[in-house]
Amino acid sequence: MPPLIWVDFMAKTACMICGKSKDGIEIAEDHVIRAMRWFKTNITKDAKGYRIVVCKDCMADYKKKRAKFTRRRLMYVGLGVIFTLSLLFVSQGRILGVLVYGFAAIVFMYLLSLVSYMPALKQTAKSRK
Ligand SMILES: [Zn+2]
Repeated sequence: MPPLIWVDFMAKTACMICGKSKDGIEIAEDHVIRAMRWFKTNITKDAKGYRIVVCKDCMADYKKKRAKFTRRRLMYVGLGVIFTLSLLFVSQGRILGVLVYGFAAIVFMYLLSLVSYMPALKQTAKSRK
C-alpha cells in the first residue's frame, strides 16, 4: 500500500514513545497497525496521517518495551496453547469442542498481550546496535 507522494510529503512524523513530532525510524506496518488505522479511518474518523516513528532519544526506552511485549506475547500465547493441550487431555475425544475453546483461549490471550503492544521497526539497511 504505497502512499501518494504528496501525502507522504505532507505527513508529519510523530514519535510513538514521547509523542513529539521528531524524525526517527519508522515503525513497520503490521496487522495491528493496519487494524488501528482502519478503525481510526472508518469508525472514529480521526485519522491524522502521522507517520509513526521512534526518535533517537526514545530508542533505548523503545527497545526495552518492545522486548517486554515480545516476551509477554510469547508467554500469553504459550499459556493459551498449554490450556488447549490440557483440555485435550481431559476431553476424552470431544476434539471439536476443545478446538473451539482452545482457539478462543489463544485468541483471548493474544488480545490480552496487545495491551502492552509495541510494533516492530522497519528494517533498515544499516544495522543499529
Ligand atoms: Zn521520542
